[in-house]
Amino acid sequence: MSFLGKKVGDNNNYSIIEENKKLKETLFSLKQELNSLKEPPLVVCDVLYVFDKKAIVRLANGGNFFVNISSNFIDKIKVGDRVLSEQKSLTIIDRLDKSKNFDVENFVIIEKPKITWAEIGGLKKQIREIYEVVELPLKNPKLFEEVGIEPPRGILLHGPSGTGKTILAKAVASSTNSTFIQIVGSELVQKFIGEGAKLVKDIFKLAREKAPSIIFIDEIDSIASERIDIGTSGEREVQRTFMQLLNEIDGFKPLDNVKIIGATNRIDILDKAILRPGRLDRLIHVPLPNEEGRKEIFKLHTKNMKLENVDFREVVAITDSFSGAEIKSVCTEAGYFAIRDKRVNVRKEDFVTAVSKVKQGDLEEGDVPVTMFG
Ligand code: ATP
Repeated sequence: MSFLGKKVGDNNNYSIIEENKKLKETLFSLKQELNSLKEPPLVVCDVLYVFDKKAIVRLANGGNFFVNISSNFIDKIKVGDRVLSEQKSLTIIDRLDKSKNFDVENFVIIEKPKITWAEIGGLKKQIREIYEVVELPLKNPKLFEEVGIEPPRGILLHGPSGTGKTILAKAVASSTNSTFIQIVGSELVQKFIGEGAKLVKDIFKLAREKAPSIIFIDEIDSIASERIDIGTSGEREVQRTFMQLLNEIDGFKPLDNVKIIGATNRIDILDKAILRPGRLDRLIHVPLPNEEGRKEIFKLHTKNMKLENVDFREVVAITDSFSGAEIKSVCTEAGYFAIRDKRVNVRKEDFVTAVSKVKQGDLEEGDVPVTMFG
């Protein structure tokens, strides 16, 4: 058996120092990524006038401001440039290359997924419904014309986190050989303030160009939630993005070969406008798996494991209210317990310990299996 390319138990070849170095490098790059995630978003502005060390910029909402230019960019900013400013002072701290930076393909995940329906455990009812309202119209639009009905332009998958909403959307993209364009609602409005509405427009344009395609909007509640007070500029920005989304959905025909799949864990806060007939009007609930579903998910995620005396009925019985994602973690953890014990066969007790570990939710910290190096 090997781990990271080394034979476990072969102490001569196994270099702890080398492994530690690799782990430190991984830790360093993860820390860098974490820091970049914590960075506050920047504001995108257009430069109207430049005066020595200052400039007048226009924000997407139309407001004009007289701002400083950071020392690195004095003499480098020109009228007509698109720049990035700090949120509070609006000091210009970077210039965008208009041709490159706002290429929509930099902001979305575009792929041709290879997930099949058979890789999804449980969720038979949901799969059938998605087949009828997304797959069938994409594959056989004539049938709908003949019968005289219009399929929904889009659907909304709602349910707890980790229950398989994303893999359902990917599976239908895969079975219809569609381009899968994934966007995360919160990123649309937070990454570059002022560009959300434009990005939505460009994403739909891209989807038409790459049709047949599926636009998957994860965390759709971040842009489509009910707002009582839209007084702040941030809220107005979200509202503009939302309006653009509604316009785009209304703008194409039900039998066009672009479909929209929204996903949310918070259907309770959604603005009803997005659910109106002709928009994302088919709601599909994706619940936590029942016993049968959990068993299927365990089987799927252990299909490449060597199991020793594992009766899934027992493991299923102690994973009530686990999501599919948590079951996947249990399987991975169980595998780690076997590795730590220098085994390749995974036993029932590995699963039982893994279940309590996932239940305690202590997977984030101390999760790197350091003990196996010692
Ligand atoms: P979130 O709401 O947090 O975005 P989600 O509902 O979209 O979560 P997924 O991203 O589809 O959940 O699931 C995460 C992972 O969990 C999947 O990649 C898959 O490995 C596993 N998983 C979840 N549900 C199932 C399932 N029903 N069958 C098989 N695997 C599953």
